[in-house]
Amino acid sequence: MKYDYLIVGSGLYGAICAHELKKQGYNVLVIEKRNHIAGNIYTEDHKGIQVHNYGAHIFHTNNKLVWDYINSFAEFNRFTNSPLAFYKDKLFNLPFNMNTFYQLWGVKKPIEAQQKILEQKKSYHIENPKNLEEQAISLIGKDIYEILIKGYTEKQWGRKATDLPPFIINRLPVRFTFDNNYFNDKYQGIPIGGYTKIIEKMLEGIDVKLNSDFFENKQEYLSLANKIIYTGPIDKFYDYQFGALEYRSLYFENEVINESNYQGNAVINYTDFDIPYTRIIEHKHFDYVETEHTVITKEYPRDWKIGEEAYYPINNDLNSNLYIKYKELADREEQIYFGGRLADYRYYDMHHVIEKALNFIKSLDKQ
Ligand code: FAD
Ligand code: UDP
Repeated sequence: MKYDYLIVGSGLYGAICAHELKKQGYNVLVIEKRNHIAGNIYTEDHKGIQVHNYGAHIFHTNNKLVWDYINSFAEFNRFTNSPLAFYKDKLFNLPFNMNTFYQLWGVKKPIEAQQKILEQKKSYHIENPKNLEEQAISLIGKDIYEILIKGYTEKQWGRKATDLPPFIINRLPVRFTFDNNYFNDKYQGIPIGGYTKIIEKMLEGIDVKLNSDFFENKQEYLSLANKIIYTGPIDKFYDYQFGALEYRSLYFENEVINESNYQGNAVINYTDFDIPYTRIIEHKHFDYVETEHTVITKEYPRDWKIGEEAYYPINNDLNSNLYIKYKELADREEQIYFGGRLADYRYYDMHHVIEKALNFIKSLDKQ
């Protein structure tokens, strides 16, 4: 065998595994089906502006070890994500905080905002929220649900908010302070120079083959290495034998504009159902650069079919049960390890992926 490990996928999970294994003296080959490394955190330089090709990526974590780890590959700026929401020609601050409540109801004190929310949710008598709509109304009342959540959520997921699990909305903070920070995490920022450089650094000195789909030469790849770390879709690995796990996909429409500042903020969400995109990203605001032009991306949610880019797992009961069946097969493998957002079928942020990858590498030591 030429390699100790074959790693399928050069995203964050695969790259960390490759880096750590090489550090321990193993011989590693990474194969990647796309024509570039870095998976969904791939960023590309457009005349000085780092464009996030697969959607806006803001790093945030409370885990100091994870923060120190990622900072060993790049210097981070102190970007704080403070998106705005656009609804029927008005702008509101996100996440839901005293600025939003003031813009919506004119309330200036936390107690007034709390009373307003209590009043709005009282008539619904929700004790144990069973779906996203109930969860949202019980967290922040009917007005915010209708203006800032319902339309966005239903176009994002292509389903009624009453057919979605409550936990999706728990990602968003609700605060009774005037604080527009989208995340509660202690450590946040954007890597100066973009994310691709981080992955390049992780993969330094490692054999990487681009445009190489594992399934197109499976037998040959299996013969190259003793062990495999697979970061692609778990259901595809088993030839969809129990059926395909469902995803929501996205279409990114990029535009270069001859204006130095298009929208004055990195992220503006469009919460009205009738506007087909969910957000407009203006990339230069992630790490401000003086340029005469700017690059924006409109993000359109769309249905997913096998073969298209899979972005958001649909974590309902049907898919969770299906995933368990594939996981049972994966757990029986002796030389093949599964990891990352596609193999675990989970809506992971980057910090989760780092934690998972480092823990996995540690677990190999014990074997
Ligand atoms: P991926 O990046 O998907 O890497 C898997 C790689 O495997 C891909 O390059 C793929 O091409 C390759 N591959 C798959 N199958 C094969 C095959 N058969 N053969 C060869 N190669 C294969 N996280 C945050 O922390 N902050 C954010 O702001 C944030 N924003 C996001 C916005 C969007 C729109 C999306 C979709 C995700 C966002 N995330 C964010 C999550 C983040 O992108 C992921 O956590 C992270 O990129 C997952 O890394 P991964 O290595 O598991 O997967
Ligand atoms: N959401 C919303 N309105 C917004 C932003 C988010 O209703 O303006 C809901 C929506 O259901 C979304 C979820 O909150 O799927 C999580 O939002 P987040 O910004 O974390 O989504 P991501 O960046 O992962 O797409």
